[in-house]
Amino acid sequence: MNVRKILTVAEVLHTEDQPQRTCIGCRKKAPRSELLRLVAEGSGSTAVLVDERRRMAGRGAWLHPSEACLALAVKRRAFGRALNGATGSTAVERRIMAGKQDAGPLQMPLVAAAKTVQPESGSEN
Ligand SMILES: [Zn+2]
Repeated sequence: MNVRKILTVAEVLHTEDQPQRTCIGCRKKAPRSELLRLVAEGSGSTAVLVDERRRMAGRGAWLHPSEACLALAVKRRAFGRALNGATGSTAVERRIMAGKQDAGPLQMPLVAAAKTVQPESGSEN
């Protein structure tokens, strides 16, 4: 039997040498687990969504969950460039502001992240 195994997302996240991703704010590299994954909502919407589980389809961008990096990314219009024109960073701002109260900026437990997930806003259709 062919028992060749395909890595699950959980296994990938537990791998010691995680792939490094570049923060679109400060442009520094960091392990995936330290960064928020952002994706464009798509379908004509310009909203940027926070991909809490890092497995939504589509092109992703990565950002430290910190106000400083968010501000840099907005200032540099990095969202639009990284995400095919998606510039609506409201959900990202909310996520970072909410997360701040629960944990340090770089050690956000997934539990805290999960309870601050916002429904997609600005997309009535
Ligand atoms: Zn950063």
